[in-house]
Amino acid sequence: MAITKENGHLYIAGMDAKKIAQTYGTPVYVYDRQIIEETMQEFADSFVSKKFQGKPAYASKAFSCKAMLQLAKQFGLGADVVSLGELETAKRAGMDMGEVVFHGNNKSACELQKALEYQTGLIVIDSLQEAMLLDALAQAAQRKQDVLVRINPGIDAHTHKYIQTANLDSKFGISIADETSLQELAKILKNSGALNFKGFHAHIGSQIFEPESFVKETGVVCEFAKAFEDTYQMPVTVLDLGGGFGVRYTDADKPAKVKDVCTLLVKALEEQIDQLDLHLEKVIIEPGRAIAAPAGLTLYTVGFSKMAGEKQYVFVDGGMSDNIRPALYQAAYDADIATNMDAPKSEEVCIAGKCCESGDVLIEKTMLQPSHLGDILAVYTTGAYGYSMASNYNKLAFPGALFVKDGKASWAIRPQSLEQLLEREEDLDADTL
Ligand SMILES: *Cc1c(COP(=O)(O)O)cnc(C)c1O
Repeated sequence: MAITKENGHLYIAGMDAKKIAQTYGTPVYVYDRQIIEETMQEFADSFVSKKFQGKPAYASKAFSCKAMLQLAKQFGLGADVVSLGELETAKRAGMDMGEVVFHGNNKSACELQKALEYQTGLIVIDSLQEAMLLDALAQAAQRKQDVLVRINPGIDAHTHKYIQTANLDSKFGISIADETSLQELAKILKNSGALNFKGFHAHIGSQIFEPESFVKETGVVCEFAKAFEDTYQMPVTVLDLGGGFGVRYTDADKPAKVKDVCTLLVKALEEQIDQLDLHLEKVIIEPGRAIAAPAGLTLYTVGFSKMAGEKQYVFVDGGMSDNIRPALYQAAYDADIATNMDAPKSEEVCIAGKCCESGDVLIEKTMLQPSHLGDILAVYTTGAYGYSMASNYNKLAFPGALFVKDGKASWAIRPQSLEQLLEREEDLDADTL
C-alpha cells in the first residue's frame, strides 16, 4: 500500500486519511487501486511459460465486487467464483465468462444452471453426485460444458509448512487415494455427452509462505494427472492449482514475492511436463488474498478509551462486523493513529470494536501512538476477507469500500444506509399487531 506521512497525517495514494474519513465517513475500507493493479500485473507477467498458457484467476471470494472484477479483466486475469452471487457479480462486471472458474463443494442446481446459461469457462465438479447432476443439467441446457474435477492431493499447507497427509476427510473434492470414487467418476465423465473433461483442480490452503509447498503440490497433482490419463485414457489438458499465496500482515509474516513464487511454480510445471510427458495446454492459479489484502486498509474513528485492570482499551466505531478475522482465528494486524503519525508508539493498547461480544477485538495487544476521541485509526492489510466476511451483527450497517488513485477517490461499494439495512423487514400482520 502506497502510504506516506505528511504533517503528522497518514496519506493513502496521495489522500489524507483524515480527509477521507471526514468526506466518506468511518468505518471505511480504503483500497489503493494502483497496488491492486500492480499485483495483478505481476501475476499476469510472471505466471507465463512457453509450454502452457498460464492464467491467474482472481479468487473473488477475497473481495468480490464489480470494480475488482473489472480490474481483473483489464489485466488479463480470469476469476474464480463459488456462489450464485459471485457468479452474477462476475457477469455484471462484464467479465469474459469463458475465463471464469466455478468451484465449491455444494453448488445448487440453480447455481449450476446459471453457470451453464452464462457459458462459464470451467465448472469444477466436487463430487460424484454433482457430476451426475451437472451432466443432466448440461444435457437439458444442450450445452457442452468444460469441467475440472476437484481433487484432494493430501497436502495441507498451513501458513509455514505443508504437511503431507493421507487425509481422506476434507470436505473438498475427491481424494487422490479414493480409487473407487475416481473410477466411478471417470465412468460418468466418459459416458457423458454433455460434460467435457479437461483436468483437475486442487487448493492446498491459504496464507502459505513456503513456495516449496506449491512445488510439492505441483508434483503430486501432475503425477496424479499422468496416472489418471494412463488409467482411463482421458487426456488432462488443464490444471488449476488454486490459491493461497501468503501476504504480510505484521513483521511476523515473511511471504515470498509474487514474482518469485510464480517463477518457481512455472519451473516446477515445466519440469513435470517434460518428465511425465504431460499434455497440459493451460494452467490456472487462483490468487485472492495476495491481490486484495495488501491493497486495502480500514479507517475507523477512535471513540472512548478505558483502563480495565492492566489493560488499556481503545474503542473504534466498527469491529468484528467489518473484520471478523481476529475473532475468528486470532489474525494479527498492524495499526497507526492516522492523525498522530509523528508521535512515538508509546502506548500499549488493546483495540476493540463496538459489538456486544468480549471477543470483538481487532488487535489484542499493540504499541500505538497516543490517541484521543475523534482521532482516525488505520488498520492495515484488511483488503481480503474483511468486507467479504462482514456482517450486520448488532445491526451495524456494512461500511463502503473506496478505491483511491492519484489523489482521487471513488466508491467501489457504497456504504449501506440505515434504510437499506431495514428494507427487507416486514411488519407483523396487521391483525396480530
Ligand atoms: C480460498 C480459495 C482461493 C483463494 O485463496 P487465497 O488464500 O485468498 O489466495 C483459491 N482457490 C480456492 C479453491 C479457494 O478455496
